[in-house]
Amino acid sequence: MVDHLYIDSHVNLHAPQFDEDREATIVRAREAGVGLMINICDRVSNFDAVYAIAEQNADIWATAGTHPHEAKENPDLTVADLLALAEKPKVVGIGECGLDFHYDYSPRDVQAAVFRVHVAAARDSGLPLVVHTREADDWMAQILEEEHARGAFKLLLHCYTSGTELARRAAALGAWFSVSGIATFKAAQDVRDIIKDMPADKIIVETDCPYLAPIPMRGRRNEPAFVPHVYEKLAEIRGWGRDYTRHTTHDAFFRLFDRIPRPEAYAV
Ligand SMILES: [Zn+2]
Repeated sequence: MVDHLYIDSHVNLHAPQFDEDREATIVRAREAGVGLMINICDRVSNFDAVYAIAEQNADIWATAGTHPHEAKENPDLTVADLLALAEKPKVVGIGECGLDFHYDYSPRDVQAAVFRVHVAAARDSGLPLVVHTREADDWMAQILEEEHARGAFKLLLHCYTSGTELARRAAALGAWFSVSGIATFKAAQDVRDIIKDMPADKIIVETDCPYLAPIPMRGRRNEPAFVPHVYEKLAEIRGWGRDYTRHTTHDAFFRLFDRIPRPEAYAV
């Protein structure tokens, strides 16, 4: 039995890229010391597939929500729809949701409206909001500030690659940030510079697999067993020791995803 050394806070294990070897991928994660994963819902219509993986595995949890790319699939999504899914015992967050103006796969006003529905569900359920944001810094900051003024909610800016100003405004609202394999990419110095300035007690770690495999796995399909490379890079960027990096990010993780009981293996 390996120690539970790592957490992968953002996986997409229901993705078709894992259809051939999903079980083996989960086993490899455990063998690498990943004792906890959150399987992220990318569209409400996929929720059953996302949730089934959490139901079948004690160390995997799930979220409920619709990615901004898919917002057009549920333009009339309601807070009640999300709250009904959030009642399931292994749902620990709302999302991923947000704004993505890089691809604009859904019209911007639809993305924004669907995002605000997720915010309301996070506020009403007390669950953290898992936010995806890309090339939408001004809109995102403005929506977060407006919504926060209506009532507080917990939020995570996942796989953060946006600007300093949005990071600063989100941090002022108490946001958490997650670091992915992008931090290892040679061209991503701007991302590393922002990681240096993130609030130390609000940083968590993810793979976002099957996407964004970290160096030295870049170009391959990503999987949770690769998450140690992200921890290593975060430690290097922040000048933290290995144990300190794990303890600090795990404390941050359990404060954010507080519906997950903290397992013995992750005791302080
Ligand atoms: Zn995302």
